[in-house]
Amino acid sequence: MTEKFKTPDPTMPTSADVVVIGGGTIGALVTLQLQEAGLKTVCVEAHSTNFGSSSRSAAAARQQFGMEANITMQLYSVDFFANWKKTLGGTTPPMHQVGYHFMFDNNFTDNGSTRVDSKAVVAAKLKRVEKQRALGLNDVELLMPDEVAERFPYVDTSELACSTFCQTDGYCYPNVITNDGFDRAKSLGATLLQNTLVSGFKTDSNGNITAVVTNKGEIPCQYVVNAAGVWASRVGDMVGTELPISPVRRYLYFMGPNLGQLDYDSFAKKNNLPMPMSDMPFTVTPNGAYCRADGKQFMLGWDRRPSEDVIYDLPSLVDHDASIQAQDIIQDGFRTNDDPSYAEEMCMEVSERLPFVLDHCGFASATSGFYGITADHSPIISFDSNAKNLIHCTGFSGHGIMQGPAAGKLVIDLITGNTSPIVDPFVYSLGGLLSHLNGDTKNARPAEHMVI
Ligand SMILES: Cc1cc2nc3c(=O)[nH]c(=O)nc-3n(C[C@H](O)[C@H](O)[C@H](O)COP(=O)(O)OP(=O)(O)OC[C@H]3O[C@@H](n4cnc5c(N)ncnc54)[C@H](O)[C@@H]3O)c2cc1C
Repeated sequence: MTEKFKTPDPTMPTSADVVVIGGGTIGALVTLQLQEAGLKTVCVEAHSTNFGSSSRSAAAARQQFGMEANITMQLYSVDFFANWKKTLGGTTPPMHQVGYHFMFDNNFTDNGSTRVDSKAVVAAKLKRVEKQRALGLNDVELLMPDEVAERFPYVDTSELACSTFCQTDGYCYPNVITNDGFDRAKSLGATLLQNTLVSGFKTDSNGNITAVVTNKGEIPCQYVVNAAGVWASRVGDMVGTELPISPVRRYLYFMGPNLGQLDYDSFAKKNNLPMPMSDMPFTVTPNGAYCRADGKQFMLGWDRRPSEDVIYDLPSLVDHDASIQAQDIIQDGFRTNDDPSYAEEMCMEVSERLPFVLDHCGFASATSGFYGITADHSPIISFDSNAKNLIHCTGFSGHGIMQGPAAGKLVIDLITGNTSPIVDPFVYSLGGLLSHLNGDTKNARPAEHMVI
């Protein structure tokens, strides 16, 4: 080793109360709230902020969940985003509260079996809306098809059972969260180290972490938060803990009204669309495909594999060796010009409810990224079982932008030993997830079913 590498980097902090690994939205929101709580925090990011999944996200933010803890977390998170400008300043709010519109068809699924029963669907959705309202989500509504047609005249409501809609939901701007979040955290005394890779830990005789080891030197610390996104399991490996998170590749597609031929106002008038375009709610079809405005384009995505009658030669979407360099790979069959193409099939799915996407719209681009998925679709926000001062904050299963503020709050509750935490920590515990995986229903944490 040359002398150059032996010399400690003078910009490296000499100590921290907490080191946060990962500079995505979770890293930013955890760092910000820890520093606001008075804990000296250093965030270490291997590349640049917003380099991972956060920048490849549809960034929907909703409070409409099924599990009580998730609803509570989301009330906190949306309130945090809504008050961001007031408390943090900055020029742009991080969330656009245009509403979130879930549509449901007549297929009622109960205990794994599906039957066509409109009344049962409506009754089940009403029950959920009532639960959400009882927990404080006052502006969630159940809409019958005629109300949907009146409120959203661009929706095809044929064979729709009902919808749920919440005006204070919407979608976020991840770059605003990371840029303004880190700026504010730094102004309070936090440190952000970019292009700095965490490669291991120094531990004491009990296995607890005494310092974080990076390619630029070591940072002695009291606590470590693992916010390394889909790569968090590698951090778990550093202390001998296996984190059950699967990296699953997901795509987003961008379509534009063909503005060469048609300006948006004429396009909107013809299709009864909101004006401005950005006021369209985040809209989900009964089969889990979604659409929202994205600048002057529409963003579309889908939680499904292509239907079996379309032949694709697809590699597995679960990529256990997912590397950060592999984020941008668009697999065969998923490019916009492939034939047959997943994009085309997704577009047909969206157009069943939102026919305007077939009217003068064309694909402009596609992006890909990883979901870090757990078996029960809830994150792991939990102390590690080997290193007792390591907290994992990962496995958000496609909800990491929206759950970030509340996740940061729970991390603080864990570190400070708050006896009235935001939610019962068991709900997001690693132990509860392992019990779920082992079929130990008595000790398993609850599972969320409102996922896309
Ligand atoms: C197509 C798509 C659509 C999505 N839609 C939504 C949505 O609508 N709503 C929603 O809430 N969520 C959505 N998500 C999920 C959301 O993007 C993620 O849950 C969220 O971005 C996770 O944030 P993060 O900060 O944990 O991870 P990331 O943004 O991936 O950040 C992790 C960071 O850790 C760094 N890192 C990793 N290892 C190390 C190391 N050893 N040392 C230092 N740094 C390290 C990485 O470089 C990376 O920058 C979507 C994701 C995708 C791909």
